[in-house]
Amino acid sequence: MKVAIIGAGLSGIKAASLLADSGHEVTVFEKSRGLGGRLANRREAWGKLDIGAQYFTARDPGFQKQVESWLQASVVKIWEFSPYCVKQGKLTPSPDETVRYIGSPLMNQLVYSLGTNVAVNCQCKISKIEKSRKGWRLFSADGELFYGFDWLIVSSPAEQSRTLLDRCSDVMAVVPVTVHRPCWAAGLATRGKIPEEVQGIFGDETVRWASRLSSRPGFIKSPDVDDVWMLHFSPEWSEQQGRETAMDIGQTGLQWLQALMDTELEKSATYRHYWRYANMKPVTFDKPYLMDEHQRLAVIGAWCAGGRVEGAWLSAQECIQDLPG
Ligand SMILES: Cc1cc2nc3c(=O)[nH]c(=O)nc-3n(C[C@H](O)[C@H](O)[C@H](O)COP(=O)(O)OP(=O)(O)OC[C@H]3O[C@@H](n4cnc5c(N)ncnc54)[C@H](O)[C@@H]3O)c2cc1C
Repeated sequence: MKVAIIGAGLSGIKAASLLADSGHEVTVFEKSRGLGGRLANRREAWGKLDIGAQYFTARDPGFQKQVESWLQASVVKIWEFSPYCVKQGKLTPSPDETVRYIGSPLMNQLVYSLGTNVAVNCQCKISKIEKSRKGWRLFSADGELFYGFDWLIVSSPAEQSRTLLDRCSDVMAVVPVTVHRPCWAAGLATRGKIPEEVQGIFGDETVRWASRLSSRPGFIKSPDVDDVWMLHFSPEWSEQQGRETAMDIGQTGLQWLQALMDTELEKSATYRHYWRYANMKPVTFDKPYLMDEHQRLAVIGAWCAGGRVEGAWLSAQECIQDLPG
């Protein structure tokens, strides 16, 4: 079969790799410059920052097997720490038994490790799709046409998939109009002392999660900073500010961290990114993918399986397992 996949995040590349392994001809179309989607990173002089997912967990036995092989190949490492949480504005230990994994050196390594047998057209945004008797036709935003695909698999976030698919299939009819909520992310390079054991913090109504990236195994930071942090602001706070806010997100993050640590920190640099599709509203479907067999169309992605890294992998795995013909 000749299959087109839109999106080179974890779900798209996992699906592509499974199909390629079974001898199918697969082409992936990705609007960004590289693979990984929301396992994205940013290279700054003061360190390489994972700006999307910060770590992942593995509960499903099939995914646990995948993680085992990633561990053996040094694609992932265990990030071992006891988390803290914020209670009445105070930092409080919140130890748990959760095993947290990170990609090595960065989260997108998960995707690159799976994508070695797959052809990916990067910087190719698909803006229109059509089904004819000769199969699926895809039009890029630059005016290129790709045609003759027996199956189409769409792996973008729900809202983007709806925009593409609405005219071709009613497969998205069961999906709420809004599935994701936004997240402001702030990377901070700081100078100042913070206790070594503070590595990850479940936050409050302002910052939902803070990673001390510089404490993660293998992190290389510039010697002139003490720490590198990634703060993810809560969906409510992020929605309230909006993408166009004039607020200094880095400074707000620094003040939040200082208040929590009850110490003066010097900010040496910041980076900010607005994620439009981050936190998921609770939605569930019968299966971890959607399929329109008549149109030979499948829709996958973490959002079909509860969000998160594990959901992206499971969605692709189960969809390809059930794909007819
Ligand atoms: C801020 C943030 C924090 C997170 N934290 C965690 C965490 O700690 N743990 C965890 O497990 N998960 C976390 N997640 C969730 C996790 O990152 C995602 O669930 C997972 O990476 C999604 O993978 P995916 O393949 O479903 O989608 P994506 O990674 O979004 O991949 C979709 C791809 O499709 C491409 N695309 C979209 N439209 C088009 C088009 N028209 N043409 C071509 N390409 C297109 C996009 O560029 C993208 O590369 C977080 C996400 C965010 C944003």
